[in-house]
Amino acid sequence: MKIGIIGGGIGGTAAAHALLSKGHDVTVFEQAPAFGEVGAGVQMTPNAVKAVKGLGLYDTLLESGFFPKAIVGRNWRTARENFRIDLGQEFQAHYDAPYIHVHRADLLDLFATQLPPECCRFGVKCTGVELTGRGARASFDDGSTFEADLIVGADGVRSAVRGSLFGTGDLRWTGHQCYRALVPTGGVVDHVNPDSTFWMGPNAHVVTYYVKGGEMVNIVAVTEATEWVDESWSTRASREDMLADFEGWHPDLAKLFSQVEEVYNWGLFDRDPMDGWTKGAVTLLGDACHPMLPFLSQGAAMAIEDAYVLGEALSLSRNDLAAGLAAYEAERRPRTSKVQLEARERGRTYHLPTEEEMAARDAEYARRAKEDPRTTGINTDWVYDYDPRGFASRVGELA
Ligand SMILES: Cc1cc2nc3c(=O)[nH]c(=O)nc-3n(C[C@H](O)[C@H](O)[C@H](O)COP(=O)(O)OP(=O)(O)OC[C@H]3O[C@@H](n4cnc5c(N)ncnc54)[C@H](O)[C@@H]3O)c2cc1C
Repeated sequence: MKIGIIGGGIGGTAAAHALLSKGHDVTVFEQAPAFGEVGAGVQMTPNAVKAVKGLGLYDTLLESGFFPKAIVGRNWRTARENFRIDLGQEFQAHYDAPYIHVHRADLLDLFATQLPPECCRFGVKCTGVELTGRGARASFDDGSTFEADLIVGADGVRSAVRGSLFGTGDLRWTGHQCYRALVPTGGVVDHVNPDSTFWMGPNAHVVTYYVKGGEMVNIVAVTEATEWVDESWSTRASREDMLADFEGWHPDLAKLFSQVEEVYNWGLFDRDPMDGWTKGAVTLLGDACHPMLPFLSQGAAMAIEDAYVLGEALSLSRNDLAAGLAAYEAERRPRTSKVQLEARERGRTYHLPTEEEMAARDAEYARRAKEDPRTTGINTDWVYDYDPRGFASRVGELA
């Protein structure tokens, strides 16, 4: 099939790789002058790593990945450990994949370097799509158009493709904003270590983890904001604002934040799950259809799972587009909807405002740890358990 993918982020490039490897004729349209990602980390949870295995890129991922020892929850003021999920051999064997931290640029490169240059068009912004008798047509801001058997909208939270066919109305400002920064690991302090650490405090939380093979600490520090904050990776903030917003938190965090040279802030938006994301020869993928709060570390993971499943679904349906897209959406929509809503719920439980509520939450974490350590804390066993590689056996023959 001739396929156009709008958006060359992590989702679009992963989808292009998946579809090219199935023999389709793929073109990616990216509005930026080149593929690029900002200086920040991504936690690749086992489900995402399984999708990367399915896409045949696992060994390359390992080259740029950092392997944390545990996911640890800590009290915001005392650094007391509230929960611990060990990420060692047993965890990896259970999920058939490790938990890996990567720099966003390395993750994008993992997929983008697989794409032949002639498949990629840069500096073209999609302004809309329409269905045609035989497929779909995308229009661009330079006046050009592109007709294909299938158009995939992988153009992020403000998707023009989604806007064209499903409307733009319901982007939700979640009332959260986050600071993000990278600090060299050289001068870091006790409790900021190779674990993936969730510091939970009143109306705020901080996540710290290593990236770049352990050379840098990635910091995501989330607060609640009364005023709307722009959704942009490139809005600069100040170290002083960051320190002021986390005044009274554990001294290790203050020491870490005081080493920040460049800090950005980002307003967090999501949407309600969609009732459907395919119309005729147009479908959506990644943040374009299921933007979510980053509190389960799943946005990129869901986009990569989508990419793998889309490639498989079109193969299994032997190019019966309607059957393939129906199977893709049937596999992906229930899962991504649940993850979207659960990520929103974590925005509440990570930010409980009073000491009493926090103590009750932490007691519940301890209770679950005794029952099954994999379900304690952020409680993501059900997220990590999913294996996109089982899709073919779940759906059987589609054609
Ligand atoms: C603070 C923070 C931390 C996060 N941490 C994690 C994590 O640890 N793990 C995880 O899995 N996820 C994480 N995420 C989520 C993850 O970053 C996103 O879900 C993921 O990047 C979505 O990828 P995408 O390709 O769907 O969209 P995007 O990354 O938004 O890519 C869309 C692409 O489309 C292009 N584009 C947009 N509009 C047009 C147009 N009209 N025409 C042409 N091109 C267009 C854009 O330039 C961009 O390149 C985090 C998010 C945030 C905010």
